[in-house]
Formats: sequence, C-alpha cells, structure tokens
Amino acid sequence: MTFGFSKKRRRQQLQAQPFPAAWRSIINRNFPIFRRLPAPDQIELLGHVHVFLAEKHFEGCGGLELTDEIRITIAAQACLLLLHRKTDYYPQLSSILVYPTSYIAHEKRHLGANIWEEGDEHRLGHTGRHLGSLVLAWGDARRSAADPSDGRNLVLHEFAHQLDFEDYTTDGTPALATKAEYRSWARVMGREFAALRTAAETGIPTVLDIYGAENPAEFFAVVTEAFFECPHALRAKHPELYAAFARFFRQDPIQYSTASDHRTF
Ligand SMILES: [Zn+2]
Repeated sequence: MTFGFSKKRRRQQLQAQPFPAAWRSIINRNFPIFRRLPAPDQIELLGHVHVFLAEKHFEGCGGLELTDEIRITIAAQACLLLLHRKTDYYPQLSSILVYPTSYIAHEKRHLGANIWEEGDEHRLGHTGRHLGSLVLAWGDARRSAADPSDGRNLVLHEFAHQLDFEDYTTDGTPALATKAEYRSWARVMGREFAALRTAAETGIPTVLDIYGAENPAEFFAVVTEAFFECPHALRAKHPELYAAFARFFRQDPIQYSTASDHRTF
C-alpha cells in the first residue's frame, strides 16, 4: 500500500464521519454563505472540514484560548475554496495561528537596492510560501464570515494565498490544468491587474479592493474575496475575470448569493 493511497483512504473515512450537530450550528450561525449553498455542497464542505481539522494544527496566540467556534468558523471558510476541485488540503500549510484581534508583526521590508526598512506593523492576517503557517485575527475572521456580501473576507484572502502557493510560486496564478488555461489566465489577469493599478492611481471607484493592485499575488487574493462575496458586481464589471475564477473554483457563487451584493459601482 502506498502512502498516497492510505492518505486518500484516511481522508475518505474522515469525510464520511457524521458531523456533530453543535459544529454544524456554529457554521450555520457564523457563516451565512454556508446556509445558501446547495445541499450536496454543504455535505462536501462539512467533509472537508473534518479533514481540515484533523490535518491542521491550530494555536491560540496573544492570550487567545482556542474554542470549537474559532476552529470551525475558520475551517468552514477555508474549505469553501476547496469545493468541487481535486484538493490536497493546502499541502504547504501545517499551522493556523489565531490572535484575538490585530497583532503586531516586526517587519523588515526591502525597498530596493540595499535599502531596508524595519518596523512594527499592525496586521489582521498573514501567510507566506515558506512559513508553513497562516496567521489570523479572530475578531476579523469572525466579522468576515458574518457579512457575506461586503466583498471583504480575511480568511478567504489568506487561504487564497495558500492556493497560489500550491504550484510552488507566489505569482497570483494557482495550479491550472492545461497550457491553454495558463495562457487564458495570464491574458485576463494581466489586463485586469493593469486596470486595477490604473484605478488605484487615479482614484476610480472599483468593485475590487485596491490593495489588489500591490502585486499579482494580492490581486488573486482580493479577487477571490470579491468572487465569493460580491459575485453580481464582479461579473457585471469584470465578466472575463468572473468567468476565469468560476472555471478555476468550479463554482458559480451567483447561483447561491443574494440578488444584490449591497455594493454598487
Ligand atoms: Zn494578501
């Protein structure tokens, strides 16, 4: 028996376990997007949550005591990104560190040539390709889940970065199936990223958070937030971008989102 086979079987067994009613009511209460999903997707998501909780290590930081509510609310959001796709459950991620609210990170930033800037920065979340961990502020993770249509979701954002890392690069392009898909992805993303940079420079209102203009990796994470949280506005203003994300995620959030996303542009 190969390791791969036993991992697959273990995951199938986890997915098939009954889902505790108390956990399900946490998801129903804290993550309204879940309530709108078609029943088969709900079942698939709960199966993923079992695997996620078994394979990822959660750690409370800054005095936060971990609870089922914290673990389940974060896991459910992370697993929304895994539906309908062949997944290895964020293979480069082993730990999720959770702070009560924003936390201070000591950063050394490269500004160019030999210039570095060091300082403390307040953060809500972070992950990195070589870190093996993902950091979240619980207050914001909970608020993100509670409002399903404001286009902002810290947890979806950080886990989108993890999807980007699956092909061992941080370039805003997740692992795609064919060369044709890569070509089409590069064409659409290149144009849309440039448009967001222009919007950021000129102050034109946009459905996308202008933080996505930082670099292609942030662009992918920011579009993921909008794709799940304001799909109507995203499809109306950026139809090709919406179509590319629908192909990658194998989901069409318009099918299960409310008629309006609250946001108009
Ligand atoms: Zn980011």
